Amino acid sequence: MTAPVSTQVAESFRNRKARLRAAYLAQLPERLTEARRVIAELPVGEHDSVRLDGLYVLFHTLKGSGATFGFQRISEVAKETEHAVRAAMDAGGVVPAGLKDRLERWMDELDACQLAALVQTDPDGAPGFELSPGRPKAGDAVERREHLIYLCDDDPSFAEQMAGQLGCFGYRVRAFSVLDELIAAVAGERPAAMILDIVFPGDEHAGPHTLATLNVASSVPIPCIFISCREDFAARLQAVRAGGHAYCTKPVKTVEMLEFLDRLTSPHPPEPINVLVVDDDRELAQFHATVLEEAGMVVKSVSDPEQVLRLLETFDADLVLMDMYMPECSGPELSRILRQMPGHVSLPILYVSSETDVERQHKAMAVGADGFLTKPIEPARLVAEVKLRAARMRILHSLMVRDGLTGLFNHNTIMQFLEVAVANARRANTSLCFAMIDVDHFKTVNDTYGHPTGDQVLMALSRTLRLRLREDDMVGRYGGEEFAVILHGVEVNQARDILDGLRTSFAAVNFFADGQEFRCTFSVGVAGFPTFERPDAMTEAADRALYRAKQGGRNRVEIAVIGNKPSDAPILGSASDASRTEHSGERFDG
Ligand code: GH3
Ligand code: MG
Ligand code: MG
Repeated sequence: MTAPVSTQVAESFRNRKARLRAAYLAQLPERLTEARRVIAELPVGEHDSVRLDGLYVLFHTLKGSGATFGFQRISEVAKETEHAVRAAMDAGGVVPAGLKDRLERWMDELDACQLAALVQTDPDGAPGFELSPGRPKAGDAVERREHLIYLCDDDPSFAEQMAGQLGCFGYRVRAFSVLDELIAAVAGERPAAMILDIVFPGDEHAGPHTLATLNVASSVPIPCIFISCREDFAARLQAVRAGGHAYCTKPVKTVEMLEFLDRLTSPHPPEPINVLVVDDDRELAQFHATVLEEAGMVVKSVSDPEQVLRLLETFDADLVLMDMYMPECSGPELSRILRQMPGHVSLPILYVSSETDVERQHKAMAVGADGFLTKPIEPARLVAEVKLRAARMRILHSLMVRDGLTGLFNHNTIMQFLEVAVANARRANTSLCFAMIDVDHFKTVNDTYGHPTGDQVLMALSRTLRLRLREDDMVGRYGGEEFAVILHGVEVNQARDILDGLRTSFAAVNFFADGQEFRCTFSVGVAGFPTFERPDAMTEAADRALYRAKQGGRNRVEIAVIGNKPSDAPILGSASDASRTEHSGERFDG
């Protein structure tokens, strides 16, 4: 079936625009570097209309094309820059004192915008860089663009700078340095979230006080992140009491702030709680299920304990509501079975029983259950008890499976996902790829610019991976500066193209530390299923391919192949060398 002509035209316009947009982004780093070079050469207090003219043209073009391709903030900053240069030209072409500093600050902002542009989606849906065609992307970059954020800090330059950076990532940020102005703004339009300083002149807890006052007046509390130089308990206590959702100490990391904002302004409602009800009394099981479903939970009920294990394979339960006495297998026995299975060790179990004997209750609890409710149980109480335990388990679970720095899945979790993914791919006869990514010469980044800058690079990379890959692709931090990606339903050649696109984008990102500019690259090894059939074979093969990518000069993607095919021949050193280097943290020295 062919698409109607109008759709084809729209398609080709979109494709063309996407290509132009990608071209615009691709040459952006070079233009910004050029601008920085010219700015550095500007002679303060002297006449230099040649350089001013050059800068004017450069910023003027940036302004126009930035707006065309949907990079609003780049366009806005370029416009301010253009004005400043224009003013100097109009005043006779002499470089005024202070101009260089201002231009340099704007350049910092443009650089941040450039990083943001990589992960930003165009209003027409065209990605910042073209992925292989037809791959849907996580769409949150688009949704995020609408959110209004208020930021209040008594240091106006900090507020402006932070607002600028967050603006680059698609938030609409209004900065204030006076709390009264913030209060007036909230009365005018409610923000999606606020970022508040704690200490203001005259009141060392002014931020929390203001939030508390604002929330009294509003029916739904405004999500708020506090930022402060204070790390003491009292400040944190005030922040929590006022209803703050997060607390960041200064210096604030933009990436960290973005994580909080993304979470607080997420348009997706939290996933409903999944409950498994096990009770041999069908009517009672049904009644409990109905009560929980009415509270918005997803419930499956079984009356035969034997079905529980099979059901848990496909139903991702947050909690099991368990009867104590059942004919074939008792609740405590079933609990012990679950506790002996690695996947269910932490699954909350809540007994519901008419057992009132405290000693027997304690015995039942001793097998590792989480609570005891006596029948008949008030519906409201049932809902409250289940919610409380499920919510806490979700937080603990997320801490258990996620890496603290990047928020990606940790090593164990991504490896577990790989096992599941391979099993599913085998069952459904679909393709699957596993990639290992390792930042090139990362030790040098740490040694040259410091560990915190290294951390920023890792966070930027993980963000790029998460936003640029599909939602059902999985990204984990394999260890240190190594990342692992599971791509579902793609052949190895497609995977190579996708990862190569990511590699090119990331290599174009400019990082800044102590006024110095640098870039980072990464190398990738990819292994495909069913060429490699088992999870351990896939990781080993991906690691070998990664080793080849390093040996071949880094900043490249290599595909793992089986056996003695020529492309698998190790270039420098043998394959066994490669497996020795595997995960050992040793350098891949060429
Ligand atoms: P190659 O191109 O061969 O991969 O060289 P490399 O320098 O990236 O590799 P190497 O394994 O020698 O160094 C990795 C460095 O990564 C060493 C370690 O200190 C650093 N690193 C590991 N985890 C972190 C982290 O969480 N933060 C920072 N900043 N550095 C880290
Ligand atoms: Mg490395
Ligand atoms: Mg490494």
